[in-house]
Amino acid sequence: MGLQIDTGAILANHAALAAKAPGAIAAAVVKADAYGLGAAHVAPALYASGVRQFFVALAREGRAIRPLLPPDAQINILSGHLEGEDLTGLTPVLNSPAQFFRDRAMRPGQPFAIQLDSGMNRLGMEASEWAAIRSEAMAARPAFIMSHLACADEPDHPANAAQLAAFRAMTDGCDVPRSLAATGGILLGPEYHFDMVRPGVGLYGGMPFAGARPVVQLSLRVIQTRAVASGEMVGYGATWHAARDSRIATVDAGYADGILRALSSSGVQLYAGDRGCPVVGRVSMDLITVDVTDLDTVPDRLDLICPAQPIDRLADLAGTIGYEILTSLGARYPRTWR
Ligand SMILES: *Cc1c(COP(=O)(O)O)cnc(C)c1O
Repeated sequence: MGLQIDTGAILANHAALAAKAPGAIAAAVVKADAYGLGAAHVAPALYASGVRQFFVALAREGRAIRPLLPPDAQINILSGHLEGEDLTGLTPVLNSPAQFFRDRAMRPGQPFAIQLDSGMNRLGMEASEWAAIRSEAMAARPAFIMSHLACADEPDHPANAAQLAAFRAMTDGCDVPRSLAATGGILLGPEYHFDMVRPGVGLYGGMPFAGARPVVQLSLRVIQTRAVASGEMVGYGATWHAARDSRIATVDAGYADGILRALSSSGVQLYAGDRGCPVVGRVSMDLITVDVTDLDTVPDRLDLICPAQPIDRLADLAGTIGYEILTSLGARYPRTWR
């Protein structure tokens, strides 16, 4: 069993997204342990390929990768400056006037950035709050000013243009770098790129970057196979009964490994090469049962994530998004990098 991660594909996806925003610096978002794939590996690899701007959600995540990156890597903390936080060597993205005043009192002269709310109403200063502190904040020279799009994965959504206009209205005339676009925003076009783009999911092979190279392959070991006679049941709740004499394989991962229980009875398959075998019965905590009746030989391993079943296909089957599939993949898997 194991998660195989293609570092070269992550770097190629970064380069491809950077090439779509040629005038802008291409940062890399490595929050949530690089979307579950391992920030301690991903961030240094991106640094070696030239990335200097990194984003994480929490100061704790920033402290974890700080020693792994040379000093000229800037690690930006999206949650900003929370009370009592150690931000040594990190750049908080300040989200409210309270954070701004706390940060300037505690870290005078240290780098900071500003997040404005352009309509998503999640993080960042409101236009009125920004107006009140703008001249003081600009005098302290933020590293950049950013905002975040709520609907960038829907190119025709009217919120995109509305947020763009709101961001412009709040920041035109500020002579510091500006940043609005994540993966989806990069794909919306040049007016969304400003001076820095912040791709996350696209680096890891997820939608909305349809051109991404796949990054993850997940192979599960077959522990046991058995003959199940027509009419017999398989798994918790007896939700599946064999419609014919069948061969069932049991593999060594389940929902405790991030294989969402919602995938039970969803049509999800495990792959022997390009041959799909239906998952039958419920996904249990540590095990999944698969109908391998139609295989001539049962291999040692079956793949859950592979070119035939990429993360966004799994996400559709589970009723979620690729982001949640990636970040759910547990720390239980051995990881191999290539
Ligand atoms: C998560 C996040 C990103 C990256 O978004 P993707 O859709 O994964 O590219 C960029 N900026 C902010 C503020 C984020 O929270």
